Formats: sequence, C-alpha cells, structure tokens
Amino acid sequence: MTTTSLVDPSTGAPFVELELADVEQTDAAVARAVVAQRGWARLAPGGRAEVLRAFAATVDGAVEELAQLEARNSGHPISQARWEAGHVRDVLQYYAAAPERLAGAQIPVAGGLDITFHEPIGVVGVITPWNFPMTIASWAFAPALAAGNAVVLKPAEWTPLTSLRLAELGIAAGLPADLFQVLPGLGSVVGDRLVTHPNVRKIVFTGSTATGKTIMARAAENVKRVTLELGGKSANIVFADSDLERAAATAPSGVFENAGQDCCARSRILVERRVFDRFLELLEPAVRAVVVGDPFDPDTEMGPLVSRAHLTKVAGYVPDDDAVAFRGSAPTGEGFWFPPTVLTPGRTDRAFREEIFGPVVSVVPFDDEADAIALANATDYGLSGSIWTRDLSRAVRVSRAVESGNLSVNSHSSVRYTTPFGGFKQSGLGRELGPDAPLAFTETKNVFFAI
Ligand code: NAD
Repeated sequence: MTTTSLVDPSTGAPFVELELADVEQTDAAVARAVVAQRGWARLAPGGRAEVLRAFAATVDGAVEELAQLEARNSGHPISQARWEAGHVRDVLQYYAAAPERLAGAQIPVAGGLDITFHEPIGVVGVITPWNFPMTIASWAFAPALAAGNAVVLKPAEWTPLTSLRLAELGIAAGLPADLFQVLPGLGSVVGDRLVTHPNVRKIVFTGSTATGKTIMARAAENVKRVTLELGGKSANIVFADSDLERAAATAPSGVFENAGQDCCARSRILVERRVFDRFLELLEPAVRAVVVGDPFDPDTEMGPLVSRAHLTKVAGYVPDDDAVAFRGSAPTGEGFWFPPTVLTPGRTDRAFREEIFGPVVSVVPFDDEADAIALANATDYGLSGSIWTRDLSRAVRVSRAVESGNLSVNSHSSVRYTTPFGGFKQSGLGRELGPDAPLAFTETKNVFFAI
C-alpha cells in the first residue's frame, strides 16, 4: 500500500496521511461504475434531476466545511474557498435541470420517422489539477452525471480532500453507490489506467499541456473521447484610450488571484507604449496593496503556493532582484510564500513566453492595434484574456482577432457556469460549462423507423 503525506502550504507541515489507489483498485472501481451507470441511465430523467438537486443541497450545507478543507489543503484564502464551494453547489443546481432538457430531434425524412437520441457515454474518467480542486471537478462530474453517466475522479496528488468529501456528500444526497467514485492516486498509475481502460469511455482532463498531449496519445489507442483543459499565457491588453486607473487597479486581480495558480491568469500585460510608464506608476501601489498571508484570515487576498516543488519552479523565473520592476510583500519563514512580482522583460524572455503559474506578471509595451494582436497571439496557448479600451469598434475588432476561448472587455471575468469555457490552440480541446456541457457526455444516436 502506497501512502502520501498532505502538507499545509501555509506552514509546510504535513497534516494528514492518505492511502493511494493502485491499478487493481482502479480496475475494480471502473467495474463497479459500469454496473452503477446502467441503473442510473434507466432512472427516469426526473429521478436523476431530484438526486442532483439533493446533491446541491448537501453541498450547500457543507460550504463552510469544504472551504476550511480547501484552505488547509491548498492554501486558498478562506473567502475565495467559500466562493468555490458555493460555486460547486450552483453548478450542481444548474445541471440538475439537464436530465429533463436533454432532448433529441425529430428530422423530416422520406419513408419513415427519424429520431436522434442523446445516449450517455458510460463511465467517464475525470482527472483534475491541484489549483482549483473542487470547482474544476464539478465542471465535469455535474454535467456527466446529469447526462446519465458514472464518474471515476482522480484528483491531483497534493489536493484530494475536497473531492473525497464531495463524493461522500453525493452518497448522502442519494446518488447510487459507485456512481461517483473518487480515487486518490498517482497520475502515472491511477490516471494512466483510467486513460487506457477500455470501459472508461471518455476522459476529461484538466492540467498541463504536456500531460494533456500524453493523455491524448494514450486515449487514441481506444479512440477514447477526450475533453482537455490545458495551460495558458493570457494577455491583458491595455489601450491608451482605456480607463487607465481602473485597468491598473484591477490588473492584480487578473493575475494574482489564487497566487497566480490560475489557468486564466492574465500573466502578460501588454500596454500601449505612450501610456506604458503611467500604467506602471498606477500598477505599483495596486500590487503593493495585495494582502498576502494566512489563508484563514478573512482579509487575506492571496495565500501561499501549493507546494515546495512549485515554489522552486516559480522562483526559477525570477533569478535576481535586478529583473524585478517592483513587488508586493509576503510572509517569510515556513510555508511556500512568494510575493506578487512585476517584471518588465523583453519579448523573447522566458518569463514572458512560458506559463509560470505563480504570482509573476510581465508588463510589455506595444505600438499599435496590429502589434497588440500579433503579440497577444504569439503563443501556443489561447485560453483567456482581457481587452481594455473605451472604443467599442476596437473592442469588437480585437476580441475577434485574438485567438482565445474566453475574453473579457474592461473586465477580468473568465468563468460563469452558464457560459462555455475552453481553449484555442494548445490550451485545450472541447468546451466545458454552459448549456451544452451535458451533450459532451453523450453519443448522438440516429434511429430511422420505416413506416
Ligand atoms: P499536471 O498536468 O501535472 O497534472 C494534472 C493531473 O494529471 C493530476 O491529477 C496528475 O496526477 C494527472 N496526471 C499526471 N500525469 C498523468 C498521466 N500520464 N496520465 C494521466 N494522468 C496524469 O497539471 P498540474 O500541475 O496539476 O496543474 C497545473 C496545470 O493545469 C497548468 O498548466 C494549468 O494552466 C492547467 N490548468 C488548466 C485549466 C483549464 O481549465 N484550462 C484549469 C486549471 C489548470
């Protein structure tokens, strides 16, 4: 039996020991899920809807408990963690309506009646990262269950606790046994087995682009369906005609939320050259004002990084103080702390090109609209981004030209469960959330009835 120690990122101290699943346990979980799924799919749509509504209610009753777990396990500020737990409840509530709305079509044809059905895929494997453990899990398991599937979820090694608790809350709400199972384990063991298991019919993977490529190749062996939500290096484009004060005041929230461990982080701020210096002057006090500290303090805006290994990776992008334009503060001592950090690198520097996934932002000038678009698109990623301008025509032109799945104009908002979410280029494949998400967990079947 393999075990792992989970570490509190704010102190660096281990606080719980956890057993990891192996390949045999993964196979057994999938076998049980196959049986559970058949019963679930036979249930009337209204019956499935009722259980999902009850699941949303049990999560609602556990918002504080889930938030405390996430703050301890992942170091998320408690105010943020409460929002995340409430978001899981809302996602479940939203998709609880789906079983009764997943309607096929009747298509006019000669000589008969033609009907399409949206059949559940079967068992869905969900593999999640450590940055937003419970919200990202819910984006997959809620629509998958709503569409009549079973789910086997493998959370990231460092942050399994909220997912394990969610599975218990599902059972308490009346989900059939084995329909939603959570298996903590290594990516190379449990993750890979889910990806290659012939009875897991779809994989939803959220994580790094490198792992996503491995998973896509491994899934190809069984022509397995995949949805991939991968990395990002999103641009926050600030034009000279924007409300510069507001653009600068909000820029920290666009990149330092969750200590920059956010796939949508606007980690490249592109600023029109003639307001570049003024923007930096306005940005500096906003960065210094970010409250970094104890995740359990309600005033904390930014917590620690998730692990020592990740801290070492992030620090590697800021080798010395000469590279730093300015930075905020962070606690010193134990725990995986790194201050909000602003760089003004060249266009070819590593920090400007690679996903750092920490509280480090690069601010770079551009000359005109065409230059801004070219710079924003000069990356293999295409997940998110912001455009700041008062010119509506420009906002439309630039938002159509930037190769990215989720853009916001005069805002840094990326995620609403009612709207689709996903990446262009190497940021992913497929979309999550929004009204169509349950369809991604179905096979369309067409039946012709001769008359
Ligand atoms: P990661 O790729 O290292 O791991 C993600 C998950 O994959 C973990 O559960 C891990 O155990 C598992 N895994 C690793 N190797 C595997 C394999 N060979 N087969 C199957 N599973 C395997 O990513 P991470 O470091 O946990 O997360 C950070 C990355 O996730 C960043 O690149 C970030 O941008 C991305 N991310 C993307 C989104 C999005 O929606 N696009 C959201 C959050 C995070």
